[in-house]
Amino acid sequence: MRPLLIGGEIYRSSSYGRGHPLAIPRVSAALDLIRAMGWLAEEAYIDSPQATPEELAGFHHPDYIAAVMEAERDRQVSAERRRRFNIGCNGNPVFPEIFRRPATACGGTLKAVELLAEGGIVYSPAGGTHHGRPDRASGFCYFNDPVLGILAFLDRGLKRIYYVDVDAHHGDGVQDAFADDPRVLTLSIHEAGRWPYSGALDDRAGGMARNLPVPSGLNDSEMGWLVETVVLPLGWDFAPDAVVLQCGADALADDPLSGLALSNHALWDVVDRLIGLAPRLLVLGGGGYNPWAVARCWAGVWATLNRLDPTVAPSAAAQAVLRGLTWSRSQGRNPPAHWMTTIADSPRPGPIRDEIRTIAAAVLERGAA
Ligand SMILES: [Zn+2]
Repeated sequence: MRPLLIGGEIYRSSSYGRGHPLAIPRVSAALDLIRAMGWLAEEAYIDSPQATPEELAGFHHPDYIAAVMEAERDRQVSAERRRRFNIGCNGNPVFPEIFRRPATACGGTLKAVELLAEGGIVYSPAGGTHHGRPDRASGFCYFNDPVLGILAFLDRGLKRIYYVDVDAHHGDGVQDAFADDPRVLTLSIHEAGRWPYSGALDDRAGGMARNLPVPSGLNDSEMGWLVETVVLPLGWDFAPDAVVLQCGADALADDPLSGLALSNHALWDVVDRLIGLAPRLLVLGGGGYNPWAVARCWAGVWATLNRLDPTVAPSAAAQAVLRGLTWSRSQGRNPPAHWMTTIADSPRPGPIRDEIRTIAAAVLERGAA
C-alpha cells in the first residue's frame, strides 16, 4: 500500500503571531516543496479533518477544551484562565485559530490511525505536538495529537504501540500519558539540560518510558548508532503493532532552538530504519524553527517513505518555493545558498562520544519490558 500524506491549508493561512518561533511556514512549505519535486500523487494526499471537542476529550479535560474554544471566539483570556490553562502566555499565544489549528492537527492524526487500520504508512507533518497536557497548553502545544492517536490505536484493539520521539525536546506529554501502560513503550532522544528539563536517563515514568538525553553537538554518526544500538533492538523486543515516530526537525544543526547538530540525512535515516518494524508506521512532525531546514527535512521524510531519493537536486519549481520563504530572525536575513539550492544537507558525521555509549548502555540494561 502506498504511503499517504495528510495536510491542510490552515497551516498556511494562520500564524502564532509575530515574533513567535512558530511564526514561520512549516507544513505549507514542506507540502509546496514535495509537490514542486513531483513527489506527491494527488491520490496519496488527504486533507485533514478537524477533531471534534468530543474526540479531543479522549485525552483533554472538557473545561480546558471549552477554554481554548472560547479563547478563539473572544480573542482573549482572563488572567485566571491564563494561570489555569497556560494559554495566552509562556509561548502559547491566543491567536485567531487557537482552537481550529491544533484541533486540525489532532484530526489529521486521528484520520491517520483510521487509515492505518489494516497497516501501511501515513505521514502527518502537522502532528507531533508532544508537550500538550490533559488540562493545559505547554511548549507551543495546545492539544496532544500523538496521545490521541495512540489512544485511538488502542481503542481499535492494537496491543502494543512503540512511540519514538527524535525532537530536540523531551516528549514529556506523551511519556506521562502512558507512564504505566504496558501497551505503550515511549522512547525519547532529546538534548540534555534543555526545556522541559525532564526525561533524565533514569526517568522511566511509571516503567514504560526510556530516555536518551544526549549532549549538545549530537552528530549524524551518533544518531545512527543510537538507532542501531537502542531504538531498533528495543523495538524488536517489544514487537509493536504500530510505530509512532515524532519527527521534529529541531535537532538539526540549522535549527535556532537547540544545540544538536544533525544533518537532515540523520532524520531520514531514522525514518528509513523504522519502516517495516511494525505493520503500521505513523510519522508525525514536531518542532522545527528554521523554515528552510524544516521544509527540506520534512519533504525528504516523505521522499524516504516513498523510496524516492531525497538527495537529488531540487527542481526549478522547488528552488522557487525555497526562495519564496522568509524568516525574520537574523539568520534568515542572509540565508546561505544551500538553503535554496539543495534539499539534502551536507552529512555531519563525527566520533561517537563516550557519553553516548554510556546512556545507550544504561537504557539497554533495562530492556523493553
Ligand atoms: Zn522540540
